[in-house]
This record gives sequence, C-alpha cells and structure tokens, in this order.
Amino acid sequence: MSMFGAVGFSLTTKSRHLLLRSLQRKGCAARCISTTPFPEFDDLVDIKTHEDLHKFSLEQPDTFWSRLARSRLTWNKDFSTVSKCDFKTGQLEWFVEGTLNASVNCVDRHLKERGDQVALIWERDEPGTHVYLTYKELSEMVGRIGNLLRNSGVKAGDRVAIYLPKTPMAIATMLACARIGAIHSVVFAGFSADALAGRIQDAEAQTVVTANQTVRGGRIIELKQTVDAAVSKCPGVKQVLVYNRTETKVPMGKLDIDMVEAMAHESPDCPVEERNSEDTLFMLYTSGSTGKPKGITHSTAGYLLYTNVTFKHAFDYNPGEIFGCVADIGWITGHSYALYGPLSNGGTTLLFESTPLYPDPGRYWEMVERLKLDHIYLAPTSLRMLLKAGDEYVKKYDRSSLRKLGCVGEPLNSEAWEWYYNVVGEKRCDIIDTWWQTETGGICISPRPSEPGAEIRPGMPMRPMLGIDLALVDTQGAEVTGEDCEGALCIRRPWPGIARTIHGDHQRYFETYFKPMPGMYYTGDGAHRHKGGYYQITGRMDDVLNVSGHRLGTAEIEDVMDDHIDVAESAVVGFPHEIKGEGIYAYVVLKDTRTLGKKEIETQLRAGIKKRIGNLAQPDMILFTPGLPRTRSGKIMRRILRKVASDKPDELGDISTLSEPEVVDYIVKKHEQLR
Ligand code: ATP
Ligand code: MG
Repeated sequence: MSMFGAVGFSLTTKSRHLLLRSLQRKGCAARCISTTPFPEFDDLVDIKTHEDLHKFSLEQPDTFWSRLARSRLTWNKDFSTVSKCDFKTGQLEWFVEGTLNASVNCVDRHLKERGDQVALIWERDEPGTHVYLTYKELSEMVGRIGNLLRNSGVKAGDRVAIYLPKTPMAIATMLACARIGAIHSVVFAGFSADALAGRIQDAEAQTVVTANQTVRGGRIIELKQTVDAAVSKCPGVKQVLVYNRTETKVPMGKLDIDMVEAMAHESPDCPVEERNSEDTLFMLYTSGSTGKPKGITHSTAGYLLYTNVTFKHAFDYNPGEIFGCVADIGWITGHSYALYGPLSNGGTTLLFESTPLYPDPGRYWEMVERLKLDHIYLAPTSLRMLLKAGDEYVKKYDRSSLRKLGCVGEPLNSEAWEWYYNVVGEKRCDIIDTWWQTETGGICISPRPSEPGAEIRPGMPMRPMLGIDLALVDTQGAEVTGEDCEGALCIRRPWPGIARTIHGDHQRYFETYFKPMPGMYYTGDGAHRHKGGYYQITGRMDDVLNVSGHRLGTAEIEDVMDDHIDVAESAVVGFPHEIKGEGIYAYVVLKDTRTLGKKEIETQLRAGIKKRIGNLAQPDMILFTPGLPRTRSGKIMRRILRKVASDKPDELGDISTLSEPEVVDYIVKKHEQLR
C-alpha cells in the first residue's frame, strides 16, 4: 500500500509521462479526422453552426438533451421521460426513471480502452513535484475507499463531509461516495473549525474524511486539529477517516481511523449502487459572498450530463489533452471541471494543491512548462495578483503547450483580459471567460462553444451555452428586449445541470431563485446584452449603484481604476448618501511597483473616471488599502466593504468564510480616519 502513503505515490513518473504523451499524439491524430463535435446531430442537415444548434436546443429541448444523455452517459436503465420541470414551483426532474452511477461514468467505463492512461496529475504543493495516476490506479483507490465507507456503515443517501486538500485521495473519496450512493459535501480545507462545524451540522454528516496535516504554500496546516475542534461540536459525527498527507504523526482519538491502513484491508472491487437520475450526487456550500452560505444540492444524471457536455464544448477538449483547472475541490469549479467534466470524458485532469504565488509568482507557468498543460482554467483574482508581480515570471517559461485560457468567478476586467491574452497566451490562445454559478452546475455563458474561428470579444463571456435561454429583466420585472441593453440576468427554461434544492431549506431555494421573476431562474447577477447578442456580466444585482437616479455598475468603475498602471485592484460599493441617494465608495489596492504618490494617483483615477464614464461615477471616497477582504475562494466580500462604507462596522454579519480578517481591521481603522 505504499502507493497511498505519506510521501505520495511510488510511480515511475517518467514512464507515465511518456505514456501520456504518446496517448496525446494519438488523441491528436483522432481529432484531426473528427470534424464534428456533435455526432449526435449529424443527421440534422440544417444544423451547421453553433447558433443553429443552440436554436435547435431551445426549440426541441427533449430531443436535444435525450440524444446527448443516451450517447454521453452510461446507464443501467434508460429513462422514460426527458424532463418534468416547472419554474413556477421550483420542482425539477430530468431523465425520469433512469438509473446510473457517477463513478462508473467517470472511471469504470474508461478502463477497457484507457486503463493505463493518466487520469489525474497531482501537482503537489512542494514545487516541482508531481505524481501521475492512471485510470486503473484511480479505480482501485475508489474501490477500496468505497468498501471502507460501506463497511463503516455509510449507506446510500448518507452525507459524508470531506475536508481534504486537493489530492488524489480527495477525488477518489468523492467518487467512492458516488459509487456507494453517499452524498459528498466537500468543505474547503482552509475553513475554520467553526465554519466546518456549521457545515457538518447543516448536512448532518456522520462521517468526516480529513488528513493529518496539509501543506499550502510551504506552510504546514494542522487539518486534524481543526477537525477535532469542529467534531467536538458535532455530536452526530460517528467516525473520522484520517489520510496521512505528511509523515507527521498526529494524535488519534476514539472516532479516528487511519485511512490508508484501513484501505489496505479492503478489496479494490466495490459493488456499485444503482442511483436514480434524481438522487443527489453531492451538496456544496456556495462561497458566501452575499450572505449565509447555502448548501446547494445537485442531481446525479442531470449534473453529470451537463458538466460532461459543457466541459467538452466550452473548452473544445480533445482526447489526450491535459486540462488544468486550478480551482480547489472545495468550490463548484473544482467539482465540475477538475473532476466530473474531465473524468466523465475520459480526460486527464490536474489537481493543483498549491497557491499561485508559491514559491514565486511563476508557479503556474513553470507548471505549464513541466506538465505541458493544454488548458488552464483559473480565477480573475489570481490573474490580477500575478499581473501585479510583472511579466518576467511568465516569460521565463515555455507556454507553447497552452491552447485555451479559461477563467471564472468574477468579471475579468479589461487589463487582466489583455494581459492573459497578450502576455500569458502570446496572442495565440483563446480566452474562455465562463459565467456560471454553484447553482447552475456548469458553464452557462462562454465565448466559444466548439466553433473554430468564432469571434471572441474581450471582457465578456458572450454566448449562451447550448440549451441555455437567457433573458434580461428590468427593475419592474419586465423583459428587456433588443440589443445594447441591460438588466437582471435570468434563465428562461430549465437545463439538466441546475441545482435541485438548498439542503434542508427548499423554501429559501424557491424564494432566492424562482420568486423574484416568476417563471424564470433568477441568477442575482446583472448583464449587458451587446450587439450581436453577446452578454457581458456587469456584477451582482446588489452591486448596481443608484446614484442620483442613475444606475451604475460597480464593475464599470472598477474597470477604469484597474486600468491605471499603479492600481493592482479595486472594489467599489455604494453607501447611503443624503443628496444622491447612494454614494460611491472605492477601495483601491496599489501595485508593489508603483512610482507615483497616492495623491497623484487619486487625481489621475478621478480624471480617468470622468473621461470614460462621466462625473456622475466619481467616488465620494477613495480608500487606499494593502488588500481587500475575500472569501476563501478569492472573491471580494463586498457586503463587508458596504457595511464599513455605511459606518456600520459592528454589523459585518457572517465572516466565517473570510480569508484574512486583518484586512477588515485595517479598513475599519482607515475609514474612521477619513470620515
Ligand atoms: P454566494 O451565492 O454565497 O453569495 P457566490 O455567488 O460567490 O456566493 P459562486 O456560486 O461560487 O458563489 O459564484 C457565482 C458568482 O460568481 C456568479 O453569480 C457571479 O456573480 C460570479 N461570476 C462567476 N463567473 C463570472 C464571470 N465569468 N464573470 C463575472 N462574474 C462571474
Ligand atoms: Mg451566488
């Protein structure tokens, strides 16, 4: 069992690499002759472009989705009805009466043809060290963990909390849950004991899977201690499986089981639990940017199909390519595009365990060169951070393997877009700015859904994915039609990947997503529809400012400020203003390399805003800060900035998902001085 041991996996990495590259060449040969990304619709002669297929997907959704479901997923039992959905009540069902298993779809069915192909590449925190794991090896791990869980009393429908770093053990545990029909609830292994306890209690999980320690950016993090503290508040927890990620021995209590040792006693063959299409595959808490995190649940068949299809087509993924989604598995991006999308397609996926700045801001690009990644998928926040560090960290490494550069999570401001395109991608790679949410399961808007040569415009995700019917709605609830207009982004009809409920609170689910705009899914984001029908996200609806009766998007003002050479990033929020109704408050982070003084920068920022948007958008207050409060997934926590700007530092609310609380103290103090 040395294979699962503390120092990683005893594999001969060199031979694996050769194997992988030879498979890649084969994959390339295959892709050169395959010209049709959607063989399912080859018989429909009228469908020539993405637009044609998109139209078809909206006009004949049942035909569209059933053909894909039957050809892309492996079923135990075929479904009888494609969809039974009603947005008016929030009751949604897809592929009714079908049965299948997600782990079979992600692993078993690939074994015959690609058992020796690399499934996972674990980019360990330790710089320069990576480990390959083939589908055969992954299958063995999944089987052993599945048996271990089942023999420890975990039954279908039970929730299992997973608090692990992004390692093969985490992926295998998620798939093992799926195999035995248990519902995984991954909690980002950077959350505090309180945040973890809250999530374990909310999910009523009786089993927790964790590691002795983890390493992140070279620092040891005592995961087991955090779990102990959390579990002491969760009397419902019956067992804790502990994976030794490092060599350090940690105290083991009554509930604790040494995972690797226990796995050694289990068989790698684990019987499969047949799941109904609508059985919950997993639950996951949203990042909490806007309030108390919601335990979003996803279905087995609909979710799996949607991630399978969007992964293949948003990124134009071809067999043999290496897909590098660097998001942690604690977020939906890690679920959909590091695990379920790539593995259900028989792909090779990266597990990035480190941080973009460790050991230096060249980490991503050194990894791209060493592992020859074809795709990278990251967050705008890390791009802005890397941009701040300068170009030399990028240019030093060979990035010629890269074909597509993806991003998700926040609006990609134009400076970051240009940098990604020109510097990182050497003007050679498509920028795939994808818009979606934990609740949508997979990508809903993306620039290039498998159409070579289609136009890509900077700064927007552009085109609705297949089956996605977008609408813009104004403040009165009326639909905004035509082009060059703005409104609340809604989705008119159901798609298979949409979340089914909020765990334990269906009412909140209904009220959040279906009540605001009856008959539609309400995203909570605002968007601008440009000429050509292309969508640009303007920010969250809460972030739209109403200054003297004029509606201004915060993203627009931020974009102007971010373009200033000395500005690393900025966040704009509104606050109550006696005269204007709402005032504008800007928080600005400067680059380490800045040459100008703050006064001068402020003058230039104001001039820029005046020129590009108008005087109306002039901030009432500009506060320079060394950093911004963020969620653990890296998103700016605007609700905190809003409270500070509104002189309500005592009402910050749930800050359990905050990554660096010190920043808040700084901002509060500075605000006191300025007012
Ligand atoms: P919570 O719902 O708890 O407040 P959250 O919305 O941050 O948390 P996620 O589901 O991880 O949780 O994030 C989805 C949100 O991220 C979207 O609603 C949108 O605001 C933002 N987002 C995602 N992708 C993009 C994108 N490409 N451009 C602009 N914004 C994006
Ligand atoms: Mg959200």
